[in-house]
Amino acid sequence: MFDPITPEEFFAIGEIRRSPVIGRHLIDLEDSEEILVRIFAVDGRSGWNTIHKNTPHAQLEAVIEYDLNLAKSLYPRLYNVHVTLTHLLAHELGHIWAGFKSWKTTGNPPSEDLSNAESLAWENAMRGVGPYRLVHGKEH
Ligand SMILES: [Zn+2]
Repeated sequence: MFDPITPEEFFAIGEIRRSPVIGRHLIDLEDSEEILVRIFAVDGRSGWNTIHKNTPHAQLEAVIEYDLNLAKSLYPRLYNVHVTLTHLLAHELGHIWAGFKSWKTTGNPPSEDLSNAESLAWENAMRGVGPYRLVHGKEH
């Protein structure tokens, strides 16, 4: 389930939900009673996520923080692509999907490589015919 979100986030999540590649996984996250996903616009973090177990709110609580303006200034320089809120949220939700699957099956977080690969797959699924982001880098 997702916490209340802004109209812009609602629109972006709707686009992700309609993806033939990852839409089904997003719906699984939205429908799950086991995970709460909370999204916050912040200053100074282009994109970030954390997942905590057994919070007062849910079995798994995922928090996404993002600064779209900062991401828009970083992406062309770091990854040679533009970025939209849809790309950015798909990326962070890819990390969360990797975490959700891993916590459920093993009780542990996923490897960083697996999580990063999933995040790029989700982001690039929303890039249609491209151009694609090819590297993860140090930032989320
Ligand atoms: Zn990432």
